Amino acid sequence: MTRIFSGVKPTGHLTLGNYLGAVRRWAETDQHRADALFCVVDLHALTVEHDPARVRRLSRQAATLLLAAGLDPALCTVFVQSHVDEHARLSYVLECTATDGELRRMIQYKEKSARARAAGESVRLSLLTYPVLMAADILAYGTDEVPVGDDQTQHVELTRDLAVRFNQRYGHTFVVPKATRPEVAARVMDLQEPTSKMGKSHAATAGIVYLLDEPEVVRKKITRAVTDSGREVEYDREEKPGVANLLDVLAACERGNPEELAGVYESYGALKKDTAEAVVELLRPVRERHAELAADPGYVDQVLKEGAGRARGMARPTVDAAYRAMGL
Ligand code: ADP
Repeated sequence: MTRIFSGVKPTGHLTLGNYLGAVRRWAETDQHRADALFCVVDLHALTVEHDPARVRRLSRQAATLLLAAGLDPALCTVFVQSHVDEHARLSYVLECTATDGELRRMIQYKEKSARARAAGESVRLSLLTYPVLMAADILAYGTDEVPVGDDQTQHVELTRDLAVRFNQRYGHTFVVPKATRPEVAARVMDLQEPTSKMGKSHAATAGIVYLLDEPEVVRKKITRAVTDSGREVEYDREEKPGVANLLDVLAACERGNPEELAGVYESYGALKKDTAEAVVELLRPVRERHAELAADPGYVDQVLKEGAGRARGMARPTVDAAYRAMGL
C-alpha cells in the first residue's frame, strides 16, 4: 500500500494556505487511499526565536485542528514529531551525508536567515539543517508520496537526493519519495502582499486567514484584500496577483477552475464578496469541530499517544537499518 507522510509546523495558527495547499487533501483523499501519517512537526518550530509555552500550545492546537479538519485516527496516524525519537536519530546520520553547500542553496534558508538578520537576531544552526530533519521525517517511514504545497517542492527534492545518495553509498535503505501538489491553490498568497505566500509565522496578520478566524474577521480580511487599480477580472498571476489569488481561493473552495471563474465576474467587489462567503462556509465545519474537540482534551491526548506508538513502530526498523548501514 502507498505510504504517505506530511506535516505542519506549529509556528503560528494554521492558515487557509495550509488547509487548501495540504490539509484538506489529507482528509478528503490521502487518508482513504493510502497508509498515511500526519505529523505536527514541533522540532521544526525551534529553528527561529521561539517561546516554549507558545510552541507547546500551538502544537496542541495544530493537532486538534488536523482532527477537526477530518483526519480520522481510525484511518491514518496523527502524532507529534518530538514524541518519536527516530526523527532526530535519523536526522543526524543524514546530516553526515548532506553538504553545507546544498543546504545554503535552499530558498527558505536564504529568506528566513535574511529576515532573522534584518531583525537583529542570530541565525540558529538548525535553520540551515532543518531540511535534513524534514528528509528524516519523510524517509523514516518508507514514504512514497509527500502531499505538500508548492513551497515545499525544493525540500522534497533534497530529500530525494539524500535518499538516492545514501542508497548508492551505503546500500539500499530508503524509498525515494515524490511530492504531490493540489491542482488549484498550491500556493495561496498573502491577501495584503499577493506576491508572497500566506505563511502562518508572518508578523503582519491582516493578509492571512486563519482557520479559526471568526466569519466577520474572514469577511473583513477578504474584502480588504489588495487587488490593483484595474477593473477587469482576469486570471493573470503575473500582472494581477491579488485578483488571481482570490480566483484561486474561490476555485479551490468551489472545486472550480480559476480561469473559468474569471469570466463570471464583472467587478472585484463581487469576486471578493463571493470568495469571502465561500471561505466562511469552507471553514465553518472545521471551527465547529475544533470547538468540540478542544473541550475534550483527553481524547486528543489519547489519539496523539496512540499515533506516536504506531509511528515509532513504523520508523524504528528503517532508522536501525540506516544506522547499521552507516557502520554504527
Ligand atoms: P507555514 O509556511 O504556514 O508555516 P508549514 O511549513 O507548516 O506552513 O506547511 C504545512 C503545509 O501547508 C505544507 O504542505 C505546505 O506546503 C502547505 N502550505 C503552507 N503555506 C501554504 C500556502 N500559502 N499555500 C499553499 N500551501 C501552503
